[in-house]
Amino acid sequence: MLIEKIGGVTKFGYPQGTLGRRGYRPRAIVIHVMEGTVRGTTAHFSNPNVFTSYNYGVGKNGKVYMWVQDENASWANGKVQRPLWRGVIPNPNKPREFINPNLYTISVAREGFNYELCTPEQYDSLKWIVKLMAEKWRIPISRNTIIGHYEIDRIGKPLCPGKLNLDYFVKELKKPRGGGDRALDVM
Ligand SMILES: [Zn+2]
Repeated sequence: MLIEKIGGVTKFGYPQGTLGRRGYRPRAIVIHVMEGTVRGTTAHFSNPNVFTSYNYGVGKNGKVYMWVQDENASWANGKVQRPLWRGVIPNPNKPREFINPNLYTISVAREGFNYELCTPEQYDSLKWIVKLMAEKWRIPISRNTIIGHYEIDRIGKPLCPGKLNLDYFVKELKKPRGGGDRALDVM
């Protein structure tokens, strides 16, 4: 499987994210839904007034796209509101505030709308990219490390990633070859 680099949008001298991760390592993979198409999402990210991005996206056709390399923080889930995720890091200098989760998460978005299911190809590729990232960054696969956006921002993003059963998804990923039978060493 190939990952297609798209976007090429330049902002602050870097496509749509923070260069590096300010000393943090990814500790979780956050799943999103685009609420639109890959094409529309790319156009959105290219708008100079929009400050948002994903690391990866998975099309309905099963293609995997990259906007921001996973060595860098994308701007996908920086807002923490009544989080359910136990992995959010409290800000030692500001009580009741958190270190920006973008710095220690990888964002992967599925194409489509929250009320839609993944296509079979898309579901397969979603498993593949999540497993690839988990292996690359040595993130143990669990429901506390593979999470939905709503688990970071329960107030603003309750429907992200929508109709995707994360408990089942994680259960499948844990199986041997649960990420599909494609090679995981392409990066
Ligand atoms: Zn989201």
